[in-house]
This record gives sequence, C-alpha cells and structure tokens, in this order.
Amino acid sequence: SLKGKTALVTGSTSGIGLGIARSLAAEGANIVFNGFGDRQEIQALQTAVENEFDVKTAYHNADMSKAAEIEAMMNFASTTFGGVDILVNNAGIQHVANIEDFPVEKWDAIIAINLTSSFHTTRLALPSMKQKNWGRIINLASVHGLVASAQKSAYVAAKHGLVGFTKTTALETADTGITCNAICPGWVLTPLVQKQVDDRAAKEGVDNDTAKKRLLAEKQPSGEFVTPEQLGALAVFFCSEAGNQIRGVAWNMDGGWVAQ
Ligand code: NAD
Repeated sequence: SLKGKTALVTGSTSGIGLGIARSLAAEGANIVFNGFGDRQEIQALQTAVENEFDVKTAYHNADMSKAAEIEAMMNFASTTFGGVDILVNNAGIQHVANIEDFPVEKWDAIIAINLTSSFHTTRLALPSMKQKNWGRIINLASVHGLVASAQKSAYVAAKHGLVGFTKTTALETADTGITCNAICPGWVLTPLVQKQVDDRAAKEGVDNDTAKKRLLAEKQPSGEFVTPEQLGALAVFFCSEAGNQIRGVAWNMDGGWVAQ
C-alpha cells in the first residue's frame, strides 16, 4: 500500500499522467496534480479521485517549461504534504515535422518540457527523499527513448536524453532507498496521439478507425493501443517493495514495437 505517501505527477490533467495518478491513488497515495486545462474540470478530477480512493489531492498549474514555476510547485508540494515521495515526470508534448522545417521554438519547448523539466523536479525532490531514505522517480520516456521515427527529431532527442538522465539518477541514488526508472510506452490513445490520427485521416482521406489501424500497423505489432491503466499498473509495481532493486531500467510497454 502507498498510504501516507505523496505522489506528484506532472501533466496529470489528461491521458497517461491521469491514468498513473489514478492508479497510485487507488493504492492510497495522496496526489499532487499538475497540467493545463479548465480549472473547474481539474477540480472535478480531483474530487472524483478523493471520493473514489479516500485520499487527499492538490493541484499546481506550473508550466514545465519554466524552472521558477517548477520550483514553486515543488515548494507547494512540500508545504501541502511534507514533500514528494513518488515523482512521476510525465508532462510532454509532440511536434511532427522534417528537421529543416522544424520550428526552432517547438524544438526548444520540447527539450524544455520533455527533458529539462525532469532535471528540475528531480534535483528539487531528491533532498527530502534522501532524508527519508525512500523515494520513487518514474520518468515517462517513450519507445522513442529507445528507437527513432522520422519527423520526430526533438521528441526522439528529448526522450533518449530522458533515458540517459534516468540512468544517472539511478546511479547517484543506488545506495539509497530511492529508485529511478523510465517507462517507454508505444502508442497510447491520448489527445497527443489522437492529433496524429486526425492528421493521418485528413492526409490519407480515410475515417478515424482506418487511420488508427494504419497508425498501429506501421509500428505496433499487437495492433492494439497500450492503455493508461496498464501503464499505471507498471508504475505501481515500480513503487512496490518488489521494485526495490529495479534501478535505471527503460521498460518498454509497446505491443512489440521495439522487439522488431
Ligand atoms: P496528453 O496530451 O494527453 O497529456 C499531456 C499532459 O501534459 C497534459 O496534462 C498537459 O496539460 C500536460 N502538459 C503539456 N505541456 C505542459 C507544460 N508545459 N507544463 C505542464 N503540463 C503540461 O499526452 P499523453 O499522451 O498522456 O503523454 C504523457 C507522456 O507520455 C508524455 O511525456 C508523452 O511524451 C509520453 N508518451 C505518450 C505516448 C502516447 O502514445 N500517447 C507514447 C509514449 C510516451
């Protein structure tokens, strides 16, 4: 059980982050939500999690591309819950374009949100984890932290970087009760991927279902999406005692994508 622990999940107002937050709450962890969205809808998410799992929740709207806002969020987690025991670095964005057409500000934003934000949250979470000699850091990388796809240069660079950062974090905490690992999902049907399905449907003149099938067929041998609930269960496993010696791995859950 994770009762009495506090989990901060960046980008948890949607998709995978929300799924992982719900799975950790189901084990009894209090949750600090973060991410963009309508404040009332986020409040409704919080209330649902509080009532369903009998835990406390809080929310901070820090923009993961801004170091000062990340620092404010980590201070907020400390004053609200006495620190972060489980840090899930999940916030991320995507942009698809050839390198020579890739907007410079998109490159900078992807590196900041998908990579550098994890450095900031981690450096600010470690002191209190070290004090308690317990902690879990889970970085949402991607199969694109292990292999590349065309037109995703910034994303692939950031996710490979995040896998590297995960390994260094694991080494620096190897003789403590803190573990750090990366999760590398294949296709998960979230708003981030639905946008790529929509683009494909428009470009190829097919309906939503056909576009989804084509997207999966190209990369994911199972032909099925990974779900946020399945990823949540893996995060819970990393947090369990059975996970004490899982350190510095990049664990793919990808319907066979990277086995090819
Ligand atoms: P999503 O778009 O559904 O959710 C992204 C979340 O991040 C949202 O809560 C959003 O508000 C938040 N966010 C975006 N920019 C932010 C910022 N600057 N500051 C704070 N929060 C911000 O996307 P998702 O598919 O759930 O992706 C979550 C993570 O999983 C990302 O790191 C993504 O790269 C990774 N991932 C997704 C897939 C997939 O197939 N969906 C596959 C592999 C990895």
